[in-house]
Amino acid sequence: MIRFETVSKRYDTGYEALARVDFEVQAGEMVFLTGHSGAGKSTLMKMIMLMEQPSLGQVFVDGYHLETMPKSQIPYFRRNIGVVFQNHQLLFDRTVYDNVALPLQVAGYPHQEIGKRVRAALDKVDLLDKERSNPVVLSGGEQQRVGIARAVVNKPSLLLADEPTGNLDPELANEIMTLFRQFNEVGTTVMIATHDVELLKRMNKRVLGLVQGKLVHDGVLW
Ligand code: ADP
Ligand code: ADP
Repeated sequence: MIRFETVSKRYDTGYEALARVDFEVQAGEMVFLTGHSGAGKSTLMKMIMLMEQPSLGQVFVDGYHLETMPKSQIPYFRRNIGVVFQNHQLLFDRTVYDNVALPLQVAGYPHQEIGKRVRAALDKVDLLDKERSNPVVLSGGEQQRVGIARAVVNKPSLLLADEPTGNLDPELANEIMTLFRQFNEVGTTVMIATHDVELLKRMNKRVLGLVQGKLVHDGVLW
């Protein structure tokens, strides 16, 4: 699903955020990406979404060699990747339903299909009863679940999450992890960036560890 071949990223500032990173993630895997703030986690994930390009090396995602992808193909490619952010980036001037429906409206799905998919996604995160609420009135954990529903509403084959539990206490973080696990169990490839070592220990999954842009660990926690 994901392959990095000696990928380096040097920003315009001259700073090398990633240095000769090599790894492969198979379809259906659930992997964690860890490292201190500034280690390169977001940069790595942005490359997977084609929001940043490598300075050196090759990135392959879902069978595509990203460097050779025509610009016109990029929106379709991105539709197959669900993204969850720490601050969930919900729109507070519309309902939970509309927040989750947004990616489908952008993609031009028919009205009825949107309704079916939005309710299926809200059901999976156990928020069907909140569809008419404004996200402002929801708790932090609930807001993050709306963010997850929005990320999966397109039924992506790859789910990326950048510090999805950053603002949540351990109990809520576990709830969110249970959701990611459930999506993974039905076949979605999941990659989660976190610097929460306790969370990594509890999850006991494959961990890719970055230190100053270098991949220094690949396996269950050291
Ligand atoms: P992490 O997600 O692990 O905190 P990032 O990938 O966000 O790390 O950042 C890695 C390093 O690259 C940091 O030193 C950061 O300041 C730098 N960086 C990130 N984005 C840019 C950018 N657009 N331009 C210049 N430097 C950047
Ligand atoms: P995080 O630590 O949450 O991963 P950052 O603070 O590294 O996020 O980055 C926030 C945003 O600012 C990102 O879009 C990143 O690309 C950009 N950015 C980070 N560092 C720099 C930098 N030194 N110069 C320009 N843009 C940067």
